[in-house]
Amino acid sequence: MRVAIPSPLRQLFDYLPPDSYPAHGICPGSRVVVPFGPRQVVAIVLSIEPDTDIPTSKLKTVISVLDNEPLLPNDIIHLCQWAARYYHHSLGETLAQAMPKNLRLGKPASYGAIPFWNCIAELDSELQNQLKRSKKQLAALELISSYPQGISATELHELGFSKSTLKELSKKGLICSRNVEPSALPFTDITNPLKAAHLKLNEEQAFACEAITDGLENYRTYLLEGVTGSGKTEVYLQAISAALSEGKQTLVLVPEIGLTPQTVRRFRDRFNVPVACLHSGLSDGERLQGWLEAARGSAGILISTRSGIFTPMPHLGLIIVDEEHDGSYKQQESLRYNARDLAIYRGRQRQCPVVLGSATPSLESLHNTHQGKYTQLHLKQRAGNARPPVMELLDLRHQVLRDGLSTELLQRMAAHLGRGNQVMVFLNRRGYAPSMICQDCGNIIDCPHCDAHMTIHRYPPHMHCHHCDLQQAIPWQCTSCQSRKLQPVGQGTERTEQVLSQHFADYPVLRIDRDTTRRKQALSDMLEEVQSGKACILLGTQMLAKGHHFPDVTLVAIINADAGLFSADFRGPERTGQLIMQVAGRAGRGDKPGQVIIQTYNPEHPALQLLSMNDYSRFTNNLFIERKQLNLPPEGYLTLIRSESVNQNESEVLLSALRQYAEQSGLQQLDNSLRILGPIPAPMEKRQGRYRWHLLIHGKNRNHLHSLVGRVVSYLESHRLPRQLKWTVDIDPQEM
Ligand code: ADP
Ligand code: ZN
Ligand code: ZN
Repeated sequence: MRVAIPSPLRQLFDYLPPDSYPAHGICPGSRVVVPFGPRQVVAIVLSIEPDTDIPTSKLKTVISVLDNEPLLPNDIIHLCQWAARYYHHSLGETLAQAMPKNLRLGKPASYGAIPFWNCIAELDSELQNQLKRSKKQLAALELISSYPQGISATELHELGFSKSTLKELSKKGLICSRNVEPSALPFTDITNPLKAAHLKLNEEQAFACEAITDGLENYRTYLLEGVTGSGKTEVYLQAISAALSEGKQTLVLVPEIGLTPQTVRRFRDRFNVPVACLHSGLSDGERLQGWLEAARGSAGILISTRSGIFTPMPHLGLIIVDEEHDGSYKQQESLRYNARDLAIYRGRQRQCPVVLGSATPSLESLHNTHQGKYTQLHLKQRAGNARPPVMELLDLRHQVLRDGLSTELLQRMAAHLGRGNQVMVFLNRRGYAPSMICQDCGNIIDCPHCDAHMTIHRYPPHMHCHHCDLQQAIPWQCTSCQSRKLQPVGQGTERTEQVLSQHFADYPVLRIDRDTTRRKQALSDMLEEVQSGKACILLGTQMLAKGHHFPDVTLVAIINADAGLFSADFRGPERTGQLIMQVAGRAGRGDKPGQVIIQTYNPEHPALQLLSMNDYSRFTNNLFIERKQLNLPPEGYLTLIRSESVNQNESEVLLSALRQYAEQSGLQQLDNSLRILGPIPAPMEKRQGRYRWHLLIHGKNRNHLHSLVGRVVSYLESHRLPRQLKWTVDIDPQEM
């Protein structure tokens, strides 16, 4: 039989079925354990009786068969085959990637019983009073008591309640658990899928929803471009409802940090059918459970981050990709796939609609609508009573700054807070300050392993390289001239937090960045405090930009809009524009009007001008012109070959040879739009002690480009390279 093995080798392997097992009893798509070199690995069976060139006597035998029925159905195997080909990656690794970790490790494809919690106390005012001090416990108890049938530990966990909270409540004799086998009932058995009534759609929403649900039997991609707060999620919910009533499952992809408990709750509050979810915050067992619920058809909806695109769904009938422009859909290691692009493939394969939703669509998706490949749907108005935020550029050139905050901004913040509202301050840099400079000789403390400055952190005090994770004590003298006059330069969130706490002593400052949210419950605790609606300052990095609905935020301040506009990556301005629009979209989502202040030294910059007028479409039109002039995507397609080594010249030499080889292939004579650029050093040439170089291949015709890349990859595979010299292929790269 022929199997795919999780190894970088781009080939398949043949084995004999185990003696005790009739070969026809093994189905393609099931897992087997096979000997592979010195190891035993879990492999996926692709076919039972292939023509093999290898004599039977040379074949090794399968050690054991793990599944009696196919674990990966045909459509997922085809999706993986397509992805492996498109991204020039090994099929074995691609298939491994399609499974949750427990299945990859060979554990059984079944779920164990999970605890269900029930409330056994009367939740009266006396009890409420008793629990007044332990807000989390009270909230958990209130939630549990609202589920007379009990609620699963997984669901409670997803909603932000920890094991220890539940343990405390159970110790107090207020709740108890029993183990229950999760329902294997198909979701279609539920007679009334709807738990709560839908909202009445406005005209634009109704138009979009009808367009999508009219064509549930056919493939079509819709780009749902709706300003922040325009009610895209409501459109998804009603489209899903239509799919459910036809017995169809929906796959909802969301960005990495976008999958908040509130999002999941919104879906569960609307529907009676089980909603499975998959994201990095879950345990391996919980992920397996979610995967199986979707794969066995007991869940009607799967909400997942990018890897969910590989989950089997026997009744899949609708795919939604929320915030389709988001960078987290692209995996930046191993199989460098883009889940949004695979979603299009899967929709075509399944003949079902794909909805890409965003307030700030990617240039790629906009380009596809201009070409007529996607259907564009607009939501131009905010839903309900919310009005669009008023945006304003604040010229920093004539302002007195206090650690990056202008007096004008501080005054405006005070006014909003004084009225009892919340203010959000956005700064895309964590730590105290991005660099430390010597005031005597101008030396800046650099990371010894990277072409980058060390960031200063105060809590706890240390220097940290954000590129290789190196951490050191804060030096007390200059490494170059021994002067002790070392000065932090620039602003990070820690420093801004310090200033804001001093300046606004009466209001809490909640800092939300990677450092403050390491503890699992930290983020949900802080978000809960914000939801309480009290006046406060929310300070954070791009974690704040996504998905959250903060109805009491009336002012959003962007401390430094300039950094990203002048970045080395050609997508820099696009990403900055999306970020500004998304952050701005957090303002005025409730009944109160919102205001956005953007601090900049370049108020005349055309991009900022257009963004501040809420004109994303003219902003992107300008970017299209630029990309066209420079021959960059979405004008044609791009492939990036990266190489890195601890030795300074090795990568450049390898890529030069590669270029020569590619030029000799003659493909460029066939298609003169094929262009090879480089080798050029990566924007940060040295990182983690490795020197990194790039070779870019650009072409207008995808097939020709792929032929050329295919040759390049075989060249790389067929040459023995020194061990420390690494290369990767990145199709449609997102980052340079
Ligand atoms: P988006 O996903 O576009 O950011 P949401 O779907 O989260 O927008 O909607 C923003 C807010 O508007 C939510 O509080 C939602 O309940 C409300 N909303 C959406 N559609 C309607 C509607 N048709 N009528 C009233 N309120 C609505
Ligand atoms: Zn010095
Ligand atoms: Zn470093």
